[in-house]
Amino acid sequence: MENLRDKYEVVIGLEVHAQLKTKTKIFAPDGCEFGCEQNTQISPITLGMPGVLPVLNKAVVNMGILTGLALNCEIAEKCKFDRKQYFYADLPKGYQISQYDEPICGKGYLMVNGKKIGITRAHLEEDAGKLVHAGADGLAGSSYSLVDLNRAGTPLLEIVSEPDMRSPQEARAYMEELRNIVRYVGVCDGNLEEGSMRCDANISIMPKGSNKFGTRAEIKNVNSFKALERALEYEIDRQIELVEDGEEVVQETRLWDDNAGVTRSMRGKEDAHDYRYFPEPDLMPLVISREWVEDVRKTMPELPEQKRERYMSLGLSEYDASVIVEQMDLAMFFDKVLELGANPKIAVNFLMGEIAAYLKEQKLSINETKLTPENLVELISLIEKSTISNNIGKQIIIDMLKDGEKASAIVEKKGLSQITDTSTIKEICQKIVDANPNQVEAYKGGKNQLFGFFVGQVMKETKGRANPQTVNQLLKEILG
Ligand code: ADP
Ligand code: MG
Repeated sequence: MENLRDKYEVVIGLEVHAQLKTKTKIFAPDGCEFGCEQNTQISPITLGMPGVLPVLNKAVVNMGILTGLALNCEIAEKCKFDRKQYFYADLPKGYQISQYDEPICGKGYLMVNGKKIGITRAHLEEDAGKLVHAGADGLAGSSYSLVDLNRAGTPLLEIVSEPDMRSPQEARAYMEELRNIVRYVGVCDGNLEEGSMRCDANISIMPKGSNKFGTRAEIKNVNSFKALERALEYEIDRQIELVEDGEEVVQETRLWDDNAGVTRSMRGKEDAHDYRYFPEPDLMPLVISREWVEDVRKTMPELPEQKRERYMSLGLSEYDASVIVEQMDLAMFFDKVLELGANPKIAVNFLMGEIAAYLKEQKLSINETKLTPENLVELISLIEKSTISNNIGKQIIIDMLKDGEKASAIVEKKGLSQITDTSTIKEICQKIVDANPNQVEAYKGGKNQLFGFFVGQVMKETKGRANPQTVNQLLKEILG
């Protein structure tokens, strides 16, 4: 397959649904908290009772504008809502209120690893409810499904990309950066597994050098970044095989089966006219003044890209900066540590080293530990003042994570402060040299690498508490 792949160019465009974190629904006053008892977050509006009227939630519009600005989109001066007709058991109205030809956000872009990926548009719409199928939720053995309408009417922002991506890896990187953005601007949890962020991946192939796109397949049900990459990889091979066999790729919707590792045809792709779109008669067109846009712009927090650049300007590697930004709570923690005036390099060494290892092993996020930014800053200052060595710092950070103790308290309790007194260290160095005559002879005979042995012995003797520079200096004097 590998060499066949060289003959083709891959084209990918993503449609991403972000569930907006509002308190109430897009057109109704019902709450939208996740995980409530079934059918408790439902008003007559959500149920689609005759005669009820939708009222647009302003918080939804603010979030749409904010996300649009973060994605460099044009914000429409006027947009409107449309009805998209479906027959679904979990959609009591028989239609979804969406935006068809006048979306809230127009063209924009997102930078992904230095490449500009175009955003075609982003529009607001309502989510449908959920079907709870036989076998799930204690219905084992039953032959029916139940409807839970809590999710119906939850606000979504659908962000549609241009077909600008050329590999599954690039699609994944785009999706990851998009998730960073919606999280940092605070409009969406960005949780793929729980479905607060969902992705439909469109993919086609064409012969290398061609500028005519092939027919696309749309893949649904990708619930993780890994699944997105795997599904696209699978689909590339499937489409190449078809074309090589002289067959055609058909435009259709396919479902990714994560266990089997395959995509399966679900239905033929419907065209826009199948939905019988028409302007929603119960809602006024929405006029967004430029003052409104500017007011929203004022609430824009630092975006992931800016954060990475700031970290890099402090001396972090691109890799370290990306890893920290990827985990928003870690970045917030790091920012607090910086605000308190800590040395960034030492802080990063702890965050990316001992702390990251501990979090991974314990499956915790930094906020779930007892370590506070203030305590980390104190630890760093003890190292900078040479009260303790870096190595001792690495030992006690684990206690700090577990128990929330201050570094100075642990140092005092365990007697870990650094030995800086030259005469004390000299005595110990002399003792080590006297105790190892053979090594001394070999060292003097030219085995220079034995120097490390002496340093190690002194450190062992002092339980890591001797100041390393002083040890080096004194051993050199003694050994000549
Ligand atoms: P629909 O709702 O019918 O799927 P949209 O316009 O909302 O249509 O989304 C189409 C998506 O498919 C966009 O993300 C676009 O970039 C992508 N796309 C369009 N043509 C192709 C193609 N030939 N190959 C891959 N992706 C494509
Ligand atoms: Mg689509």
